[in-house]
Amino acid sequence: MATTTLPETEIHESKPGTKYVYFFGGGKADGNGKMKDDLGGKGAGLAEMTNAGLPVPPGFTIQTEACREHMRQGKTSAEVNRQMDEALKKLETLQGQPLGKGENPLLVSVRSGAKFSMPGMMDTILNLGLNDQTVEALAKRSGNPRFAYDSYRRLIQMFGNVVLEIPKPAFDEVFDAKKKQKKAKLDTDLDAKALQEVIEEYKKVVKKHTKADFPQDPHDQLTMARDAVFHSWLNDRAKHYRRINNISDDLGTAVNVQAMVYGNLGDTSGTGVGFTRNPATGDKEFYGEFLLNAQGEDVVSGVRTPVHISELHKIMPSVYDQLRDITTRLEKHYKDMQDFEFTIQDGKLYMLQTRNGKRTGLAAVRVAIQMVEEGLITKEEAIFRVEPNQLYDFLVPRLDEKKTKVEVLATGLPASPGAAVGQIVFTADEAVEKAGHGNQKNPVILVRAETTPEDIHGMEVAAGILTSRGGMTSHAAVVTRGMGKCCVAGAGDIRVDEKTREMQVKGQVFKAGDWISLDGTTGRVIKGKLGTLPPKADDPELLKLMSWSEPFRTMKVRANADIPRDAIQARAFGAEGIGLCRTEHMFFGEEKLPHMRAMILASTEKERRAALRKLLPLQRKDFDGVFRAMDGFPVTIRTLDPPLHEFLPRREDLLVEIAVLEATKPRSPKLKGLRSLLQRVEELHEFNPMLGHRGCRLGITYPEITEMQARAIFEAAVAVAKDGVKVHPEVMIPLVATLKETANQAAIIHRVAQEVFKEKGKKVDYMVGTMIELPRAALVADEIAKEAQFFSFGTNDLTQTTFGFSRDDVNKVLPTYLAEGILKQDPFAVLDREGVGQLIRMATERGRKTRPDLKVGICGEHGGEPSSVEFCYQIGLNYVSCSPFRVLTARLAAAQAAASEKLKVEGGRTK
Ligand code: PEP
Ligand code: MG
Repeated sequence: MATTTLPETEIHESKPGTKYVYFFGGGKADGNGKMKDDLGGKGAGLAEMTNAGLPVPPGFTIQTEACREHMRQGKTSAEVNRQMDEALKKLETLQGQPLGKGENPLLVSVRSGAKFSMPGMMDTILNLGLNDQTVEALAKRSGNPRFAYDSYRRLIQMFGNVVLEIPKPAFDEVFDAKKKQKKAKLDTDLDAKALQEVIEEYKKVVKKHTKADFPQDPHDQLTMARDAVFHSWLNDRAKHYRRINNISDDLGTAVNVQAMVYGNLGDTSGTGVGFTRNPATGDKEFYGEFLLNAQGEDVVSGVRTPVHISELHKIMPSVYDQLRDITTRLEKHYKDMQDFEFTIQDGKLYMLQTRNGKRTGLAAVRVAIQMVEEGLITKEEAIFRVEPNQLYDFLVPRLDEKKTKVEVLATGLPASPGAAVGQIVFTADEAVEKAGHGNQKNPVILVRAETTPEDIHGMEVAAGILTSRGGMTSHAAVVTRGMGKCCVAGAGDIRVDEKTREMQVKGQVFKAGDWISLDGTTGRVIKGKLGTLPPKADDPELLKLMSWSEPFRTMKVRANADIPRDAIQARAFGAEGIGLCRTEHMFFGEEKLPHMRAMILASTEKERRAALRKLLPLQRKDFDGVFRAMDGFPVTIRTLDPPLHEFLPRREDLLVEIAVLEATKPRSPKLKGLRSLLQRVEELHEFNPMLGHRGCRLGITYPEITEMQARAIFEAAVAVAKDGVKVHPEVMIPLVATLKETANQAAIIHRVAQEVFKEKGKKVDYMVGTMIELPRAALVADEIAKEAQFFSFGTNDLTQTTFGFSRDDVNKVLPTYLAEGILKQDPFAVLDREGVGQLIRMATERGRKTRPDLKVGICGEHGGEPSSVEFCYQIGLNYVSCSPFRVLTARLAAAQAAASEKLKVEGGRTK
C-alpha cells in the first residue's frame, strides 16, 4: 500500500491449526523457497537450500505470523512455545546434542529474517546455549579454551545489548580497559584467562543494569532471544528502512534458530560473505571477503580487515571450488545475483544464507542485461529487475572504485544519492572557511552527529554530508535531497566527537582535514580520496533496458520545467512535453524582479499595466525558448500562482534596513522608497498565505496579470509557429475551487488568444484547463470540466489541503507521525492513495463524464515517485509530470505498471 493510516490493532489469539514452526535439516525442510511471506527471505532460502541438498546447518524457522501475534498481544502464545519446543527436540535428536547442556552442548544462533531483506536493521544473537557450565564443556571439546571463553563473552555482550537492552558502551568500556591493562593491541591478543576476567566483569554489567543475573538456563535464553528479535522489527532503524523502501510495518519478521557452526576453531576454519556478481558495478566476477579463524561479526564489525575471497582459493582450494559451484548453482536456481554467507568449520563448508543481492542502479541494469544474454531471464523479466528510483544513479556522479583501494569505514542510510569526496570538517563555520563561499576548490565533507537548521550555511558549501544519527527524514537527509547533494545519514558505527573534533570508526581516528569519500547511493563511508565519475545518462546499457520497457508504456511522461535550459534537459531524458511551467519562476530573474515589484507596488490599475507592459516582452522571450525546446510536444503553462509577497523582501529585513539607515543616514533618499515598500509588505501580509491571495484569486482580482501572461504566451506561440515550430500551448489556471473562477479566467485567456491571432494573422491550437488542487474542485470536477479542457492534479497542494497539513511546516509533526505509525510514509512524497488518491480518481471520473476526452495528468512531486506513478496509471491518467531528473524514473515506473498488468506479473511497487 502507499501512504495509509495503519489499521486498528486487532486482538485475537493464535489461530488453531496454524503451523508456526518449520524445521529444516537432514536434507529435508518443512518449508520451501516460495514461502517468503511466512518464513521470511532467510528462512525460505534456508529451506530451499536444505531441500537442494546443500550443506546447511539444521534448525527451524518461527514464522512471521508468530511475530505479528506477538506484536498484537504483547506476548508469544503457548502454541508457538509448544511448537518451538517440539522443533528444538527434533534438532537436539538430529545433532545428538542437547541445547546448552552436558559434555557436548548444542549451541544455536537466533536471527531475524523478514519477507524483504532489511540488511543489518534487526537483531541477531550467536552462541546461544552457553553458560557457566557449557563454556567449560566447549573448552574441553574444542581443545581451545580461548575460543570457548571468547564465544561466551560475545554471547553475554550480544544478549546483553539486544535482549536486555544494555547500551553497547557499557561492555566496550570493560573490554577496552582489559585490553589496556593487558597491553593488548588486538582483540585476539587477549588470552583465555583475560577473557574469563572479561566474562566476570560483563556479568557484573548485566547485574548492575538489570538487577538480575545473566540467564543461565538455555531455554530461557532462547525464548528471551526470540522475543527480542520479534521486537527488533519495531526498532527505529528497521522502521526507517521500511519507510524508505515502501515495506509494510504489518509484515513482521520470522526468527531462524539454527545450530551454530564455528569459523573460529583455528586455521582450517573461517567465515565470509560474498556476491555472485559485483553489486556496485554489476561486473560478472566472484566478489566477496572472508576471514580465517573468525566469526561472522568480525567480518561485519571491521575489528579485523577481511581479505578478498580469491585468497580462499590459495588457502583451501577444494572449499573454494565447492563454494563457487554452490553459489553458481544458487544463482541459476534463483535466476538472480545472490548475496551469500558461509562458514568453514574444520575444513567443512556450510552455507548460512543466500538471497537476491542488493545492488546499485548501475549494477541492476547491467546484471539484468547480462542475465537476458545468458538466457536466465526474459527481456520482460529484466524490466522488473530495476527499481525505477535506482535510475537516478545514472544521473549523478559516482565514485571511481577501480583506481584506488576501497576501505569501507561504515555504512549508513543512503539519504541522498551521488558521490562526494572531500576533507572532513566538523562545523558549518569551518566548512565555509575551508571550502570558500561556494567554490569547490577545497571540497569538504561536513561530518556531524546530526545537522540542524543552523548548519545550513555549511551544508550549502560542503560537497557532501555525513551524520552518525538520524534517519531518512532527518534534517540532513531532507535538506540535501532538496539541494541535490550527496548525503549519508545515520552511520551509527561512527562516533563524532564535536568537542575534540574527531571522528572515530573501526578503531581509527579521523581529524579535520582528513579525506573521506561518500557514496550517497549505497550509504557507504569510504576512507581516503577516491576519484569520481561523471553521470551517464546516455549509458548504452541503460538505453537498452529502456528500449525493452518503453513499448509497454502507455502513459505519457512530461517534465516540470520553467526555463528553456531545463526544458532542453528534460527532452534529453525523454520527456514528452511540459506538464507544468511555473511562470512565477520566470519573474525572479534580475531583469524581471524590479518590474514585478513595480507591478505589485502599483496603487492603480494604470500603474500596474505600465509595469506589466515591461514584463510582457521578457516573459514572451522565455515562452519562445520553451516552445522551441519542446518542438511538437505540448507545453502546459500555469498563470501566476504564488502570493505576491514572495516577490518582495522580508518584512524583518526591511525593518532592520530602515532602522540602520535612520540611525546612520537619516537623510538618505532611499528611506522613502523603503518605507513605502514596507507599507506594501505589511498590506500584503497574510496569516496563512498558502490559503490566501494566490492562485486564480490573483488573476481574478488583477485580471490584467492574466491578460499579460496570456498575451505573452500567444504572441510567443504565434512567433515560433511562424518559424515552423509545432506548438501546443495548454494554459492552466491554478487553485480553482469553482466553475465560475475557471470561467472567469478562461474567458480572459480565450479573448486574448483571439486578439493575438487577429493581430498577427495566424492561429495556433491551444487549450485552457485547470489545476485540481482543492478538495472542492475535485468534488465539483464535473462542473469545472464544462470550462476546463484538461485537468492537472497539483498533488502538492491537494495533499496539503486534503490533510490540512501545511506543506512547509509538516516536518514538525511528520517524524512523530511516522515513528508512531500514524502514517506509513510522507504523503508529500508518496501519494496517499486512500484519501488524496480517492479524490483524484473521483475527479477524473466526474470530469470525464462531462467531457469524455478530458486530458488528465498530475504535476505535483508525486509525478516522479514510482508508487504514485503506478497509481496514476491504474486510474487511467494520460500523463505524469515531474522534475527533469526524475523523468527516467517515471518512464520506467509507468512502463512497469503497464507491463505488470499486461504480463500479469507482480509489479512489486506496493509492498
Ligand atoms: C502542486 O500544488 O502540486 C503544484 C504542482 O503546484 P505548486 O507546487 O507550484 O504549488
Ligand atoms: Mg500548487
